[in-house]
Amino acid sequence: MKVTEHIKKANGKTLFSFEIIPPTKGKNIQELYDNIDPLMEFEPPFIDVTTSREEYVYIDRNGLFDRKITRMRPGTVGICAAIKHKYNVDTIPHVLCGGFSKEETEYLLVDCHYLGIENVMALRGDAMSHQKFFEPSNGGHHYACDLVKQIQNLNKGKYLHDVIEADDKADFCVGVAGYPEKHVEAPSLNSDLKRLKEKVDAGADYVVTQMFFDNSKYFEFVKEARNAGIDVPIIPGIKPIAISRHLQMLPQVFKIDIPEPLISAVEKCKNNKEVRQVGIEWCIQQSKELMEGGAPVLHYYSMGKSSNIERIAKAVF
Ligand SMILES: Cc1cc2nc3c(=O)[nH]c(=O)nc-3n(C[C@H](O)[C@H](O)[C@H](O)COP(=O)(O)OP(=O)(O)OC[C@H]3O[C@@H](n4cnc5c(N)ncnc54)[C@H](O)[C@@H]3O)c2cc1C
Repeated sequence: MKVTEHIKKANGKTLFSFEIIPPTKGKNIQELYDNIDPLMEFEPPFIDVTTSREEYVYIDRNGLFDRKITRMRPGTVGICAAIKHKYNVDTIPHVLCGGFSKEETEYLLVDCHYLGIENVMALRGDAMSHQKFFEPSNGGHHYACDLVKQIQNLNKGKYLHDVIEADDKADFCVGVAGYPEKHVEAPSLNSDLKRLKEKVDAGADYVVTQMFFDNSKYFEFVKEARNAGIDVPIIPGIKPIAISRHLQMLPQVFKIDIPEPLISAVEKCKNNKEVRQVGIEWCIQQSKELMEGGAPVLHYYSMGKSSNIERIAKAVF
């Protein structure tokens, strides 16, 4: 079922969902299942699976370094299929512009359609680690908006080079990213919202937000998005702080602020066990308030570890 249909069917009840990341290459999928198992009692209607960008690795060949390109966490669509069939739950692959040509994206979407995957998350992806700014791959899209257009074309039966007459059209429900604290490259929140509106006008059916720790940022974002004419569901993405290093890491990686009371609560902790407890309590409060404020779904960034999400879900759902 489509995300928008799940939301409609819930009739105002807030749903629980979460995001997982594929294992690193060479690791077994069992650890992923072990982390999903305890979360299934909260009946997630859908689970997101991220896609990692390719990166360069340098292999030492007797002092001469050979540069190779690799994807450290491959398998997004395969994992979506495995989870969908194991748990009978909708799965959502993240589809990136970065690292893919339009043709490769088309093949990936064809795979998804054959597998009965009805939702995809359309994302640009970040710059590669050696790049200062995002550069599209050869023959790839520059912005998520262009990817949304490709997916919507496929929904109309329009393939890239129009060599075939499609009689089996895809019907993907498309999610896109939104940033309550603005995307790092956007000159202002207002201009970022205009870009978000372009994605919705191109056919995005719902928005999932970047993580935030101050709910007022989400509520204000939803208000501004509505003022800008964005009328699709806006799903908050949240994450519990789990280690003290998150205080530096999360703002650096995701360009978000951490509220002062949360910083001081973490700084008072003697070890990461205490930090984890603080993170869980903060996230429970955040979740309850978002629920009261009418969030359609609470979408948790699990980063592949479920024990803290399980405790939060137990207290909230
Ligand atoms: C919910 C969620 C899930 C994510 N999952 C993944 C994942 O699985 N894998 C991964 O690698 N990354 C993931 N990301 C990170 C995401 O790829 C990065 O944040 C990326 O930098 C931007 O992606 P986007 O889809 O928002 O890009 P876009 O919507 O294309 O926007 C990128 C920037 O360009 C600007 N912009 C847009 N259109 C134009 C235009 N026409 N002209 C000029 N500027 C423009 C926007 O304002 C923004 O600053 C995720 C992010 C979120 C919020």
